[in-house]
Amino acid sequence: MSLALEVYRRLPASMQGIAATLRGYQLRRWRYGPETDRLVAEARERERWSESEWSDWYATQLPMLLDRAATRVPWYREHWAERRRRGDRASWSYLENWPILEKDVLRATPERFLADDCDPRRMFVERTSGTTGKSTTLWWSRATVREWYALFEARCRNWYGVSRHDHWAIIGGQLVTPVSRQRPPFWVWNSALNQLYMSAWHLSARNIPAYLGALERHRIRYLFAYSSAIYTLAEAIREQGLRPPRLDVLVTNAEPVHAHQREVIEAAFNAPLRETYGMSEIVTTATECEAGRLHIWPEVGVVELIEEGHAVMDGEVGDLVCTGLVNQDMPLIRYRVGDRAVRRPAGVPCSCGRTMPEFSSIEGRSDDLVLTRDGRRIGQLQAVFQTVGTVSEAQIIQESLDEFRILVTPRPGFDDSARALIIARFRDRVGDVAVSVEPVELIPRTANGKLRYVVSRLTPEQRALAGS
Ligand SMILES: [Zn+2]
Repeated sequence: MSLALEVYRRLPASMQGIAATLRGYQLRRWRYGPETDRLVAEARERERWSESEWSDWYATQLPMLLDRAATRVPWYREHWAERRRRGDRASWSYLENWPILEKDVLRATPERFLADDCDPRRMFVERTSGTTGKSTTLWWSRATVREWYALFEARCRNWYGVSRHDHWAIIGGQLVTPVSRQRPPFWVWNSALNQLYMSAWHLSARNIPAYLGALERHRIRYLFAYSSAIYTLAEAIREQGLRPPRLDVLVTNAEPVHAHQREVIEAAFNAPLRETYGMSEIVTTATECEAGRLHIWPEVGVVELIEEGHAVMDGEVGDLVCTGLVNQDMPLIRYRVGDRAVRRPAGVPCSCGRTMPEFSSIEGRSDDLVLTRDGRRIGQLQAVFQTVGTVSEAQIIQESLDEFRILVTPRPGFDDSARALIIARFRDRVGDVAVSVEPVELIPRTANGKLRYVVSRLTPEQRALAGS
């Protein structure tokens, strides 16, 4: 823990607000400047570009990035030097000649991906904790930060009729108050960003009325949170008969939304839910439009979907492999994001009028899959719990190829027949395996407060046995 964070946690709540606001001013200066309005307008204009306008755009952006990476970025420069030594004459001007970059390689030495004409001390530093608790460091120039936040303003706020000037809230994994704290506030008001930052760690049924009250009191117009957090709020509203705060829109990040969650959330809040997809490395981003379709932001990166070494057709699922174009100082080329996705075949234009390409689905993280002895990779297992009715949240722990534990947070009425139903449905999908169902009070979150649907304890040998 940093000293600054340690000091922050000892401050009384009112002083924490001041500390958060001071940090907020600093962030605001990084994110927004005199160019912001122009950048937002340009982003909005590009949303209706034709395919040929995009090809022209990529034809200038991509070669510039590849050339910069091959000549100024230590990791890539050495990669190409090594290939040349081996007599490989492949040109770095073609994306398909580049290796796929795995997360672990970036995590091991992130500084080797920073161009050598950049001074990291003058850059914005983003440290990600990652879903599996492994962290990495990313560096952005001021221009990159501003370009990114202009895109975010256009497509994560303006699409939904709100802006950065409105009051908004976020439920996140930063410890804005100690985990042991029993009484509100479990949040801090950052007036520089008009943001109420709420702790994901205190979101228990008992505390939810206080969370809803804070949203109302701060006149919050939109909320960003993991879909599991928003769903927890919605369930409490429904079950405890609470009055929902008046929000214009709820925006989810970082977790896929299941159809049944969306239904419960939109009914409880009487407001639309919009799904977004992205990652801190910013190599691809997508947001849901008012017509309910998930549009890819083309200027963020080149998207490839790859299965067993080959590009898949539109409409088929593949691993997301993306080349980021926003951050030209720390190029991530053909970066395997760790999620699987399907691109919607072109042909039926979206009724929102935007011409941007689309994902028809994000299948969730490739490590959210259960692996079977017969080599199947099974995702979307949330369906096992969705209709049981007496389970709030669940997590599948794969102990071996034939042995599973399912942690559930039970609701009133959870009994042996619910348990038997879960086991039967799980076996329907996965096969004849040992499975136990264990009720718990709270399912442990990852370091950044995220709920993992599947935790795999398979060894590399067991994975090999399953052919993965
Ligand atoms: Zn649309």
